[in-house]
Amino acid sequence: MSHTEKVQALLAAIDVKRYGKTRNYVSGSVSELGPYVSRGVISTRIVWAYLLARGHSFEEMFGFVQQLAWRDFFQRVWMGLGDGINTDIRGDQQGVKHTAFPAAIAAGNAGIEGIDVGIQRLVSSGYMHNHQRMYTAFLSCNLAGAHWKLPAQWMYAHLLDGDWGSNALSWQWVAGTFSNKKYIANQENINRYTNTQQRGTYLDVEYEQLTEAPVPEVLKPTLDAQEVLPFDDCTSEALIAAVADKGLPIWDAISRSNDQSVVICNYYQLSAEFVASQSGSPILLLEPSVFAKYPIASHCVDFMLSLAMEIPNVQVFVGEFEELYSALRASGSVEIIYQEHPLNQYYQGTEIPRDWLAPEVEGEFSSFFSYWKKVEKSLRKEYKDVRGY
Ligand SMILES: Cc1cc2nc3c(=O)[nH]c(=O)nc-3n(C[C@H](O)[C@H](O)[C@H](O)COP(=O)(O)OP(=O)(O)OC[C@H]3O[C@@H](n4cnc5c(N)ncnc54)[C@H](O)[C@@H]3O)c2cc1C
Repeated sequence: MSHTEKVQALLAAIDVKRYGKTRNYVSGSVSELGPYVSRGVISTRIVWAYLLARGHSFEEMFGFVQQLAWRDFFQRVWMGLGDGINTDIRGDQQGVKHTAFPAAIAAGNAGIEGIDVGIQRLVSSGYMHNHQRMYTAFLSCNLAGAHWKLPAQWMYAHLLDGDWGSNALSWQWVAGTFSNKKYIANQENINRYTNTQQRGTYLDVEYEQLTEAPVPEVLKPTLDAQEVLPFDDCTSEALIAAVADKGLPIWDAISRSNDQSVVICNYYQLSAEFVASQSGSPILLLEPSVFAKYPIASHCVDFMLSLAMEIPNVQVFVGEFEELYSALRASGSVEIIYQEHPLNQYYQGTEIPRDWLAPEVEGEFSSFFSYWKKVEKSLRKEYKDVRGY
């Protein structure tokens, strides 16, 4: 099945009614669209338009659409703060003991079955359920005392839907630096949502005991960034080898010297539809500096390249934007087209706005609910205009 067919199948399978009731359970009815949304293959707006056309009432879609809005909210915050999302947003994280990562969590061996299974699946396949992400962040930051940044980078590196905006801000939400309090969960809560029956663990206590709990022995040994992040999977050499392995062509200035315009794709923009909507030859730009700052594991590199293979005539450039820019200039006067994104702010050329869920709801918002209030109003109006009631 091609990725295009897979996206259509995932859209068709969305069960908005069951979603609201079951999304917190690992066996719940979630869409698994995340990898395609995060890689820019499908926008939150297209998902909304699809559901609207399917004839649901607004109330039926409410829970699902609100989650789509979380995604856009995090993107808006990232656009506004830029690299500011990499530091504690609303004051220093409380109770930090170190800036490393608990080795047992990295190994999926923290002694809590409902979390360990999620970590093992994450590392082997790139998927983790939202609730297991919250539990993992809670264990790392609020119990083991790690600062959120390195554990967040580790999770991002393995997620096929890795999106630094949603990731860093969700970790900050759990760690209490982008929320009013730290998130905690005990064994009873984890058992309920992960279908496990474990008892007698270090989490099998009342909530009040967890807020001041000592670091469990199993979470004490730590790993540093060099030991835990997959830097080697996304060096220039590794990227070039992975591109060759897929049989994707490397960009060649000489054979493309007649191109009048090019469309830049990257890790966050891999939509064949976007490329087709622009007139220009597609170039997948893989900047080593971006991957050195936000490393990704080999299964994510593989997923990215398999999406690129569905973009007709794409060529790959492994290097920095400035190098590509100079090479394009040298090969003739070329227009560069790219899509707006917080990681692109230094690109030069024609910037195309992103496909937001509610494009007119712009600006900075102090909280998700102040953002959602405006998005909901805008979507309800659109709903009424389409349905006529
Ligand atoms: C610690 C932590 C780290 C996270 N890291 C990422 C990340 O790197 N990339 C990422 O896309 N999401 C991240 N999330 C948010 C959320 O877990 C995923 O978007 C969701 O689990 C994806 O699975 P799904 O496609 O089945 O989602 P569904 O539940 O089916 O939701 C549909 C879509 O809505 C959006 N969405 C749903 N829930 C959220 C949420 N809580 N925040 C933002 N958007 C949401 C996603 O685009 C998702 O694909 C993180 C959450 C936590 C707690």
